[in-house]
Amino acid sequence: KVRTRFAPSPTGYLHIGGARTALFSWLYARKHGGEFVLRVEDTDLARSNAESVNAILEGMSWLGLEYDEGPFYQTQRFDRYKEVVQRLLDEGHAYYCYCTKEELEAMREEQMARKEKPRYDGRCRMRKAPREGVDPVIRFKNPMEGITVVDDMVRGRVTFQNSELDDLIIARSDGTPTYNLTVVVDDWDMGITHVIRGDDHLNNTPRQINILKALGVEPPRYAHLPMILGPDGAKLSKRHGAVSVMQYRDEGYLPEALLNYLVRLGWAHGDQEIFSLDELIELFDIEDVNHSASAINPDKLLWLNQHYLKTLGTDHVARQLSWHMGQRGVDPACNPPLRDVVEAQRERAKTLVEMADNSLYFYREVETYDEKAARKNLTADSAPVLQALHGALGALGQWEDGPIHQAVIDVSERMGLKLGKVAQPLRVAVTGGTVSPPIDQTLRLIGRDRTLKRIENAVQ
Ligand code: GLU
Repeated sequence: KVRTRFAPSPTGYLHIGGARTALFSWLYARKHGGEFVLRVEDTDLARSNAESVNAILEGMSWLGLEYDEGPFYQTQRFDRYKEVVQRLLDEGHAYYCYCTKEELEAMREEQMARKEKPRYDGRCRMRKAPREGVDPVIRFKNPMEGITVVDDMVRGRVTFQNSELDDLIIARSDGTPTYNLTVVVDDWDMGITHVIRGDDHLNNTPRQINILKALGVEPPRYAHLPMILGPDGAKLSKRHGAVSVMQYRDEGYLPEALLNYLVRLGWAHGDQEIFSLDELIELFDIEDVNHSASAINPDKLLWLNQHYLKTLGTDHVARQLSWHMGQRGVDPACNPPLRDVVEAQRERAKTLVEMADNSLYFYREVETYDEKAARKNLTADSAPVLQALHGALGALGQWEDGPIHQAVIDVSERMGLKLGKVAQPLRVAVTGGTVSPPIDQTLRLIGRDRTLKRIENAVQ
């Protein structure tokens, strides 16, 4: 049974590169009817914190990447790592290293002088007696000859000379295990069959394979994903805009749009751009992931977001909008219902932020008018028009789009004015500006009482 995992280190937020790794691992598991595990790699106590753990969990849940097991925390598994380190010692696959900092430094300088690549030369493999006053580290006895092959599902076959991989430290002098050891033990214990991760880990892979072999464990398959770059081709960083998943939410993107966007960073299916999750589960294959890095494209994300704003279920979009309205101090339980707002606004907004900002007048009184709009539309000439509208709208039996629309037409005909000359002052009076859905929908959503009140305020 296929089992994949996402193994973030909680040292910040959930980065979009991490989110793509999680998505590919999730898709791979779902596609093969397997399981997806979340593992928090929090052994770096100095850099990990609970806030980052929460940020990662929040990001995963907002994206809808559900895990079947976890979250597991490496800090809760120290006993198990110690046990494995002890076994490696007992079986002659690891040894105590008593080299001091000075000694390692001298070794390095000699190697540099000989123009060799600096590496630990394994001298403590021979040293049998402990050294006074030195807390030893524990090193893995890496094979000195032969090759280690990584049959990567994305990059193909990558070969490493074992002589290039020195005896890495698996436990520090305080006894805590290092990254390569904890990953190996966890991938083994958690039955991970496919390790999908960023290609910054490719150089760790032969080391991890050698440790697994020493333990007599069949290594999993590996897939190393290429980097994500900024639009300028440089390594993605904050100066390119949002890099954290939650920042994309804050900027008004839908999780569906971000997922669709992320999957296309490195994967393609012909020239298709829009994919539902079900479609992705069917079509995605890790072997089709591109070998080279892909650059983010903010315009495409915006385009996808607009597509999903228009096409997703109204209630679903309303739930997402609800969070943004809450951020603006609007109680989402107020009238009009958010789903009605979504229906009126979905064709007019590229992001939920835009939709929320342009929908505040449905909930809040108009306190100020857009200056230019008021100068042009709330004039001495428009006062009688607004008064006539007040009368006609106040007399309506039904507060529905049709009758509202007819009332506005009647007033314009009666006063011999073009429709725009009537609708636009009305729009400014009830929304404070010149941009809103069609006037009948706008008034319906604002409600009769508030509409009449706002007209009264505008003619004073
Ligand atoms: N914790 C590692 C990271 O966040 C990932 C380890 C792995 O996927 O093997 O970079």
